[in-house]
Amino acid sequence: MSATLIDGKKLSSLVREDIKRDALAYEQKYGRKIGLAVILAGENPASKIYVRNKIVACEETGIRSFEYYLPETVTTDQLIELVETVNADENIDGLLVQLPLPKGVDEKAVLKAVSPAKDVDGFHAVNAGNLLLGNPCLAACTPSGIMELIKSTGVQIARKNAVVVGRSNIVGKPVAVMLLSENATVTVCHSKTTDLKKHTLEADILVVAVGIKEFIKGDMIKKGAVVIDVGMNRSDGKLYGDVEFDSAKERAAFITPVPGGVGPMTITMLLKNTVKAANLAK
Ligand code: NDP
Repeated sequence: MSATLIDGKKLSSLVREDIKRDALAYEQKYGRKIGLAVILAGENPASKIYVRNKIVACEETGIRSFEYYLPETVTTDQLIELVETVNADENIDGLLVQLPLPKGVDEKAVLKAVSPAKDVDGFHAVNAGNLLLGNPCLAACTPSGIMELIKSTGVQIARKNAVVVGRSNIVGKPVAVMLLSENATVTVCHSKTTDLKKHTLEADILVVAVGIKEFIKGDMIKKGAVVIDVGMNRSDGKLYGDVEFDSAKERAAFITPVPGGVGPMTITMLLKNTVKAANLAK
């Protein structure tokens, strides 16, 4: 049996319709568009593409974008000064600093300077902490998108075994917290986990965010599982997930493709967070 595809593009365009409506409602109520600032420092080609995609997505949903391009030679202090200017700008509701920052810049210090109220990436310790405590917050975008993808399958999360492979601050840890909040029994695996397969075979819901091309094979997947492949690995000019799609789809009930799964939802959740930040500030 072949798994049903979880179509991130389709879900994304549905969610973007809601965002468009909410952004227009905000504009009509407060007399200005919701604003998202993007800071790009340096010449990383992938970052340039990501930023371009985010700006296009803003335009399509009625969010005004503010773009700041800085040279590779920018210093930590200069970046923090710009972040503080944006923090104070009343026309800007959300701020994202595109990572990675140029070598020599203190990334942690720059991210710490972002106002938690405008931290639409959800990377600030205040937002990460509030997520953990179950308080209202701006949650990290990729994990939020993953939760929407899982929910779109109609599969109940509560009481299920959810296994997250990867424990990064931007994907693995926050998605584990979100699954726990939805009453799944959550296991987090990482590079020091012994017998990974034993854990993944128990997973009714399997989220993989490792960064190794086709790392999870079909025989590591429980029959009927929901499989979310976060991986984006470029090889021979193509994009590959962290899951070996062809063998996995024969075991899973639902699976995200790469590309076209988690990726489109990440930008959509960024826009959703921007609308949320604007409304929370009122
Ligand atoms: P990180 O490199 O920050 O984290 C990778 C995690 O995988 C670590 O926790 C690491 O464990 C774990 N890991 C590495 N090797 C193994 C192994 N052999 N067995 C088990 N676990 C292992 O990556 P990210 O979380 O930032 O990203 C993961 C992937 O998701 C990447 O391909 C990235 O490009 C993609 N991504 C996609 C996004 C999207 O929008 N689609 C957004 C963000 C990321 P340990 O902690 O022990 O080192």
